[in-house]
Amino acid sequence: MPQANAAVRTTAHETSEEGTIMNTTIGVIGLGLMGTAMARRLAECGWTVVGYNRHPRKVEGIAVAAGLAQTAEQADTLWLMVSDFNACREVIDGLGEAGLRGHVVINSSTIAPAESAELARRVEALGSEYLEAPVLGSIPQAQMGTLQLLLGGPEDLVARLDDVLMALGTPTHFGEVRSGAGAKLAFNQLIGSLTAAFSMSLGLVQREGVDVDKFMATLRDSALYAPTFDKKLDNMLGHSFEKANFPLKHLLKDIRLFTRSACGQGIDTHLLIGLQHVLEEGVYAGHGNHDYSSLFESIVRENTTRH
Ligand code: NAP
Repeated sequence: MPQANAAVRTTAHETSEEGTIMNTTIGVIGLGLMGTAMARRLAECGWTVVGYNRHPRKVEGIAVAAGLAQTAEQADTLWLMVSDFNACREVIDGLGEAGLRGHVVINSSTIAPAESAELARRVEALGSEYLEAPVLGSIPQAQMGTLQLLLGGPEDLVARLDDVLMALGTPTHFGEVRSGAGAKLAFNQLIGSLTAAFSMSLGLVQREGVDVDKFMATLRDSALYAPTFDKKLDNMLGHSFEKANFPLKHLLKDIRLFTRSACGQGIDTHLLIGLQHVLEEGVYAGHGNHDYSSLFESIVRENTTRH
């Protein structure tokens, strides 16, 4: 049974006096790690879902359309969860006016604010409505319907989509298009920077022979603690990164997006150049599809220093 924090639908097609979109069939475009979990969650909550993936992929419990045109024919709401801006653009261009006119596009892919604004212009020019909805949280949160949805777009569209958004978690409307994407990059910069900062400290603790349990107990009692440290501690201690919810390659993309976006706003991003190098090294070392906490391996290297 889905544990909905909100709208679990009892029937697939209800009508609403308040003007909420209730007859929605949702086309989830991009059945990767997150898109699959989101499509399944929406279906479990009673929404009619059709999935589409560029490279054909079967997803148990979800009808998968053969192409973008077929997805648009069946669905009135198109929910994008693809890797990056180029992927979003290819999907939008692939749908074209025939596929987009009269539809609502919800975009949960993590992209830059300026990129999202460009997509909104394209989508609206082709007769569709656009809501920016990047998410904070990963596969477990998508499965449980406890994602945080960071919305940017028109107030009335947010209100109309309330039911379907609530099936995936807690929506926060930040304002116009760009604002949700900006908030998302701000959060993901923290993911990268906190994980890198913790990796350096844990590395020194280990190399100095400091007791890790005592270090962690003291850290937990201090104002410096963040829950993400404990979440990633076992991965780092066990050098075990294969099981990825959020892959390192996507964190690299997001740190690059943050750097580019912040640079143009007078924010000094020198600190992030080092983080980008660390993430790039991780990708070259084969960690691209591993959990992002594998950045530990690029920071705490084999110790070749002789004392
Ligand atoms: P993923 O597993 O790598 O899936 C990427 C999806 O994008 C795949 O379905 C892929 O299709 C599709 N795609 C890539 N290029 C495409 C193109 N040119 N045209 C059409 N489809 C294309 O990634 P994910 O982890 O699900 O993440 C998806 C997005 O959500 C990313 O922007 C990521 O930063 C963001 N995000 C991820 C998480 C997380 O925890 N994983 C959390 C929050 C946000 P193919 O299979 O055909 O390549």
